[in-house]
Amino acid sequence: MSAQTTGVTARHRRPQALVIAIDGPSGSGKSSVSREVAARLGLAYLDTGAMYRAATWWCLHEGVSLTDTAAVAALVRAMPLEMGVDPAAPSVRVDGVDIDAAIRETAISSAVSAVATNLDVRAELGRLQREAIAAERLPSSFSGGRGVVAEGRDITTVIAPDADVRILLTASEEARLARRALDVHGTDDAAAVRATRDQVLRRDADDSTVAAFHVASDGVATVDSSDLDFEQTVQAVLDVVTEMTGRRS
Ligand code: C5P
Repeated sequence: MSAQTTGVTARHRRPQALVIAIDGPSGSGKSSVSREVAARLGLAYLDTGAMYRAATWWCLHEGVSLTDTAAVAALVRAMPLEMGVDPAAPSVRVDGVDIDAAIRETAISSAVSAVATNLDVRAELGRLQREAIAAERLPSSFSGGRGVVAEGRDITTVIAPDADVRILLTASEEARLARRALDVHGTDDAAAVRATRDQVLRRDADDSTVAAFHVASDGVATVDSSDLDFEQTVQAVLDVVTEMTGRRS
């Protein structure tokens, strides 16, 4: 049957939703690069790390000890979380409170692995992430059914193993430490890099116990950003998207 006889012409056919999954260690640039790629492709942007940070903020706000794994999981299941997926202005709200700035504070960065290694929390946030990704296939979604760039530690392997494009964004330890120091302290001198070590390396070591994000699994393309600036990294990711889907940005 031709498209014409079904009443659907190529001009009216909605392009299929595109799901791009990007993971990698801290300081690889995955958040800023994913956001920019989403903006350029007209897709939604889902920051799954922000969801773990929100869960951590919520537990601390509600006064639950992070070592009480059952209480933490119960609280996260009931968390009134709203994720804003506009790449131009991503937002995180819990119980109506805007927590974008609060979840970036060192207290949260230092505590988040305790929440992220709770397997019941991972199950719940994983469910919400799959739901958010699926929602972007719908015309009524933020992207109008165009799709989403989702980023975070286990996105390419556990959450969206069937994504159209899966990328592991890596960078050398040295490059990652320098970038995070610049982000957090405004300089990448020796003292700032030292102060950043815990956030980057200890957190990755803790997170590695529940998610593999240092080595690309089958079908996952690797982009190494160690010697690339921001624009070059965005371009390298867009090149992979074109290569894997035939779509140009
Ligand atoms: O990416 P970001 O640094 O905001 O992630 C914060 C933390 O959330 C990570 O250190 C990790 O503990 C957790 N995380 C995770 N799985 C994801 C995304 C983030 O465990 N998909």
